[in-house]
Amino acid sequence: MEETKTEVGVQGQGTPVKPAPRPQEGQPREERAQGQQKQHSGDRGERSQGQQERRGDGQSSERPQGLKSDGQRGDRPQARTDVRPEGAQPQGARPERSGAQGAKPEGARPQGQGGQGAGMRPVTASRGGVKISFLGGVGEIGKNMYTLEYGNEIIVLDAGLGFASDEMPGIDKVVQDITYLVQNKNKVKAYVITHGHLDHIGAIPHVLKHAPAPVYASRMTLALIENQLREHPGIKAKAVAVKARSVVQIGSFSVEFVHVNHNIPGSFALSVTTPVGVVFFTGDFKVDYTPVDEHPIDLARIGEIGRKGVALLLGESTNVERKGHTMSEKQVGENLDKIFVENKDKRLFVSTFSSNVHRVQQLFYLAEKHNRKIAFAGRSMISTTDTAIKIGEMNTKPNQIVDINSVTNYKPGEVLIVLTGSQGEPRSALVRMSTGDFNKIQIGATDTVILSSAPIPGNEANVNDVINNLIKCGATVVYEALAEAHASGHAYENEMKLMLALVKPHFFVPVHGEYKHLKKHAIIAEQLGVQKRNILVPDLGDCYELGVNTLKHVGCVPSGAVLIDGASTGSLDSTVLRDRQTMAEEGMCVIGIGFDSKTGEMTSGPEVMTKGLLYSDELIDLVSEARDIIASCVKNCGLNLAKDDVGEIRNHIRREVQNFFFKNVKRRPMVITMLQSNG
Ligand SMILES: [Zn+2]
Ligand SMILES: [Zn+2]
Repeated sequence: MEETKTEVGVQGQGTPVKPAPRPQEGQPREERAQGQQKQHSGDRGERSQGQQERRGDGQSSERPQGLKSDGQRGDRPQARTDVRPEGAQPQGARPERSGAQGAKPEGARPQGQGGQGAGMRPVTASRGGVKISFLGGVGEIGKNMYTLEYGNEIIVLDAGLGFASDEMPGIDKVVQDITYLVQNKNKVKAYVITHGHLDHIGAIPHVLKHAPAPVYASRMTLALIENQLREHPGIKAKAVAVKARSVVQIGSFSVEFVHVNHNIPGSFALSVTTPVGVVFFTGDFKVDYTPVDEHPIDLARIGEIGRKGVALLLGESTNVERKGHTMSEKQVGENLDKIFVENKDKRLFVSTFSSNVHRVQQLFYLAEKHNRKIAFAGRSMISTTDTAIKIGEMNTKPNQIVDINSVTNYKPGEVLIVLTGSQGEPRSALVRMSTGDFNKIQIGATDTVILSSAPIPGNEANVNDVINNLIKCGATVVYEALAEAHASGHAYENEMKLMLALVKPHFFVPVHGEYKHLKKHAIIAEQLGVQKRNILVPDLGDCYELGVNTLKHVGCVPSGAVLIDGASTGSLDSTVLRDRQTMAEEGMCVIGIGFDSKTGEMTSGPEVMTKGLLYSDELIDLVSEARDIIASCVKNCGLNLAKDDVGEIRNHIRREVQNFFFKNVKRRPMVITMLQSNG
């Protein structure tokens, strides 16, 4: 078992430990703006491997549990801060607004590209441009992954997970087809991650296994990645913690991390200066003027980057159909406060996403205000809250938290339970409580349960079940339809307009959305002054090339979905999946036959056992009829069990059995025939 090797650095802070042989990036924006060519640390040899080293900065109070700083066990995370002289990169090199030379009008791309490589055209980018490949996150919500490539260098923006649909029984997760990364693994220089949601970090163990490279992200994001990597002890990762406004040079790319609001702390937009211009990637964002941590999105910096010139904006599109502006997270706190007042004698349960650290933070404030102790239930809720407290993303008062086992020692009005299960996840704490399967806590008439999240599309039925079960138990249930106990983390239309107005990109490509979202976002970009011919709507697997003044479709890379099934991976059309579907929809029939190895005579059976096929009242009759049919099939098929091909005999039996059951119960079950010779 290989050891996870993780190095943490913190960028953009304090003084250097050693001088750099050449000017580098990494300088906080304020200093660069003054044109200072300060050289913090910088070492040629190390820079080429990821440009990081450690520095005692005294800021990182605690490294996320399990992270190891590359041979300096027990050391505090440290950093190298490099400074790039102003003007060393064409940050301000806005392309002339002369139109998208050679830009392919959207919709003009040949059919059949993308998706499992069908009809794939090889990528033919010229040397001078930056290739942008969309390996996930377009035409779908989930498995976000975009690559920027220049010469022999690739940086990967986000590496997220998708979720299995109903057509994939037993499949846990879906990740991108990463053939392209594997084929070019020597070029992959870094994974640059915007934030810690699973649709942005969930594929990290998978990509690190096949195309290892350092991971750049906020401390919160790295802590969540580290939690994931704990389940994959063989995977090495070098992690580099970055802060808002820090800049890192990764080969030809200079990446600046820009603070944005989202429903997880440590979220960034990325401003990537490339040799042909700036690519600005919003990541997931919202504009919250009154966020819980008092740090609104860095609009000033975004405006400044926009003023200097942005060649291409990649903008998230999730909530493009929602008019207006998202509610502030603080407003959610005020709404929750009212619910606390109205339910002051009730035991309170609040269920939300464990990653919604600011929501949980507000619950700490409310618990304090209303003199309630707070207890946590659900593995991810406990571990994420624990992590957030450890790295200083959450403030708590001493003795506020009590163990879930001790909540029965308190009066209903003295305790608040924060738990997982807001999406109706089958094994979550809330679902188990709603079905009486959580022995520590019985839900009853003195309880009020608040679902502080909106159901993700596809989870509505599960969420409904939980609500109904809780009400059956006698509880009062407050859910989104009844109270504004949740705010979205994704920009609404007005926020997208604000982003477009500030960034003022020459080219625009909508991402993070289904096709209808991307199209709608494209129309908004046009309204905000981006020329129609400068807007491209990508399909999965598309590869664009950004040149000076140009953005064009140059081909496709392999793309699609890979299923993660326990410890194995497979493709969508695998026989395993087909078998599972057959078993789930048609049921199963197992047949046992014993025969004499010399004569081929049937000596025992046929035994017939069915699963998921017959109801008890039809079982006895049909099974005995099936036995007769199999026996006569074996007798009359003209094949000898001892001499002839076993596969052929099995096929005969399968056809007979399936036809029989189809005639009687309209099902063609999976048939497994076991032939055993004796004698
Ligand atoms: Zn997100
Ligand atoms: Zn997302």
